[in-house]
Amino acid sequence: MSTIVESKRKKPTLLLDNFRFTRDKIINTTIYWKCEDRSCLGRAVQCDLNSPFMKQPHNHEGDEIKCKVEEFRMNLKQRIEDSPQPVKKIYREQIISLYTTSSQITQFTPMFHEMKISLYNARNTSYPSAPRNIDDVMIEGICSKTLNESLKQLSESDHGHLFFDETFKSCPNPFYQLYSAHSLQELGFQSAFIDKKSRDMNKINVRNLYKKKTCALAFMPPQEISNLGVIIMDEYQDIDNIGEFYDYVTNTWIDNDRLFDYTLWQYYHFI
Ligand SMILES: [Zn+2]
Repeated sequence: MSTIVESKRKKPTLLLDNFRFTRDKIINTTIYWKCEDRSCLGRAVQCDLNSPFMKQPHNHEGDEIKCKVEEFRMNLKQRIEDSPQPVKKIYREQIISLYTTSSQITQFTPMFHEMKISLYNARNTSYPSAPRNIDDVMIEGICSKTLNESLKQLSESDHGHLFFDETFKSCPNPFYQLYSAHSLQELGFQSAFIDKKSRDMNKINVRNLYKKKTCALAFMPPQEISNLGVIIMDEYQDIDNIGEFYDYVTNTWIDNDRLFDYTLWQYYHFI
């Protein structure tokens, strides 16, 4: 079994049959490896994409524990880079899997808190760099459903009010974490929330409609959402200029050809 890991100085290191090799030279498509112990003549060769093999023997024993621990570190970092799961969870899974295959090694592997910093570094390097302005933002695939127009509106919001909220532990698939940012649109809706204590009946109705009724749809049984939507709209039809809000709610969340499928926002089966 061979693996190539990265040394502390970011140099490739070959682990082969419990020996460590540093890269000596590359000639065409052949890689020559030499034992990391300079007083040893141990050599390995790797042709093209084939597995490397030992060419000259070592004058010392191999170090199984050191090699296995390094492999563990590398697999762990690889998984952290490739998977969106929480770093700690991946660490735990990898330790369990190592324990089931080579239980004698786990006593030599670093504890989570000892390698936490380098693990989070691995996670951070797998993220793309942060955009500097709105034109740097590229949205593809399922995420583009939030529409670039909405993002532009958010970035240009000049109402002085942006609302942020986060959900880190309970997100429906395919999300891992949710961080939402809302800006206000000129629908006459915002004054009901900015002026929260207002006794104006219209504003009280807007707040109830939004917080107690519309948002609560996420917790209702999916087969009831359509009916409940109609009941809500009937109940609050007298709010001034409410039509535009209802159009938005039905087009985005409720209609058969809604923008966001129930699976993306439904919490009924979650609680
Ligand atoms: Zn050697």
